[in-house]
Amino acid sequence: MSKIDDTTEETPRDFIREQIQADLDSGKHSEIVTRFPPEPNGYLHIGHAKSICLNFGVAQEFGGVCHLRFDDTNPAKEDQEFIDAIQKDVEWLGCDWGDQVYFASDNFKQLYGYAEDLIRAGKAYVDDLTADEIRDYRGTLTEPGKNSPFRDRTVEENLDLFRKMKAGEFADGERVLRAKIDMASGNINLRDPVLYRILKMPHPRTGDSWKIYPTYDFAHGQTDAIERITHSLCTLEFEDHRPLYDWLIENLPVPSQPKQYEFSRLNITNTALSKRRLTQLVEQKLVSGWDDPRMPTVSGLRRRGVPPEAIRDFVSRLAITKSEGVVEAAMLDHCIRDYLNQHAERRMAVLRPLKLVIENYPEGQTEQLVAANHPGNEAAGTREVPFSRVLYVERDDFMEDPPKKFFRLGPGREVRLRFAYFVTCNEVIKDASGNVEELRCTYDPETKGGNAPDGRKVRGTIHWVSAEHAIPAEVNLYEPLFEDPEGGNSEEFLKNLNPNSMNRLPDCMVEPSLSEGTVGTAIQFERTGYFCLDTNSEYGRMLFNRTVGLRDTWAKVKQKA
Ligand code: ATP
Ligand code: MG
Repeated sequence: MSKIDDTTEETPRDFIREQIQADLDSGKHSEIVTRFPPEPNGYLHIGHAKSICLNFGVAQEFGGVCHLRFDDTNPAKEDQEFIDAIQKDVEWLGCDWGDQVYFASDNFKQLYGYAEDLIRAGKAYVDDLTADEIRDYRGTLTEPGKNSPFRDRTVEENLDLFRKMKAGEFADGERVLRAKIDMASGNINLRDPVLYRILKMPHPRTGDSWKIYPTYDFAHGQTDAIERITHSLCTLEFEDHRPLYDWLIENLPVPSQPKQYEFSRLNITNTALSKRRLTQLVEQKLVSGWDDPRMPTVSGLRRRGVPPEAIRDFVSRLAITKSEGVVEAAMLDHCIRDYLNQHAERRMAVLRPLKLVIENYPEGQTEQLVAANHPGNEAAGTREVPFSRVLYVERDDFMEDPPKKFFRLGPGREVRLRFAYFVTCNEVIKDASGNVEELRCTYDPETKGGNAPDGRKVRGTIHWVSAEHAIPAEVNLYEPLFEDPEGGNSEEFLKNLNPNSMNRLPDCMVEPSLSEGTVGTAIQFERTGYFCLDTNSEYGRMLFNRTVGLRDTWAKVKQKA
């Protein structure tokens, strides 16, 4: 399990912040420059948010800058749609790159020049082996690799072939440029890694100019150096690449000497946090898109009603360490609920309506009752809620034969209608097949506002809407996409999909003030959870997403611990 620190307000010191502090103290650096380097081949997920908040966070804390850098070296998978979505999401999370937005592709010329430098220094060669042969020659973790028969080409021949690769004279995959390091190295990444491959495919930014593209390993560190990044922060899967990162920086005439530091990636139970898997969910139409409210993408969370503050709070509680762990999904929910409890306004909505008629309330009469928008915050103000003879209440709030501890409605029982009156249920009307169809009640006009002048108490308070004034709406309830806590992380993840991850309630009734709601703003529906208006809502046919329920299972987990 990852360590979770939710007791301190300040961001806890971690090994990366300590390193940066030491580098400033020793005078190694006078200004800190970090970068967040997404590949524009998908939308950002909440794992990326950890990296974003770390990179932008340390830059801000230490008075430095953070670049937004698109690692756009593989046009086969990249797209302008993703570039736009990434910018929108980083901005929405509250991170400001100012004018420091860069593209690895802006350096293609410079990177090409570095490749020729390596060839001239006898440290890179053009290889004619096929991809399969290269794999066979590479050896294994226990066996050394073998030298390619093309490894000892002359500098002239290598330059000539590399220029022909660039000119488009060979087919895709026919040749590659490799670093000449050590085929017997204990680190497979140093066994003559591929630096350039032929790919005759237009690039979203450079068009048809290039027929060869640098690999991640060749582009990343050199781009860091060109941008004068001081601390290149990435996830642990790149730890084994660091010797190659350093080798290239040492062997090339780069303008600065960045250092790479690795931290553990974020994993969450019942959640897939891998762009590759999320891409499959989207492409196979198992979700409605990248911003499906069930997706752990930044855009999905936004559409579900999760505020950026809650995401920032969540990632700030994660330890930045070198040990992998899995965080409970309940902890993310806890952070969302915690924020929304303080900030979301309250409204009344009935998700599964049951008709309630107040027999002693005058027909045709409507009263405007005053309801507080937030119980803990007077500044949030009040609103008017219409009350009339026919109401809807929640089906779950009535039981025909209730146990003693059921403090809601039952035959002969009295409850408080929130912001309104006490009502007593006198009669239950059923349809032909015995389903409860309607409750016949009486109200006590003396209890306006929810208190009885004679001091009598009721145990339960339930929410309601006026039938004549309520707006019909649909509500989507969401459950985790994966049933098994580990399900989202396995290769078999598609078999683990939760068939009940979305439950649509088509016949809800919400109070009229919700017609003025704005898309994406979370509100608490009293007693049922936090919800927000979906982007697909149209006036008169509102659709609400449940952001998170009210029950805090994480608080319970913590109590037990
Ligand atoms: P994925 O691994 O999900 O396919 P990726 O690593 O391919 O994503 P990139 O666009 O390369 O996605 O990632 C940009 C940055 O975000 C990298 O520095 C990467 O280390 C970091 N990152 C990606 N996933 C996570 C995660 N789950 N937790 C923390 N940081 C992450
Ligand atoms: Mg990656």
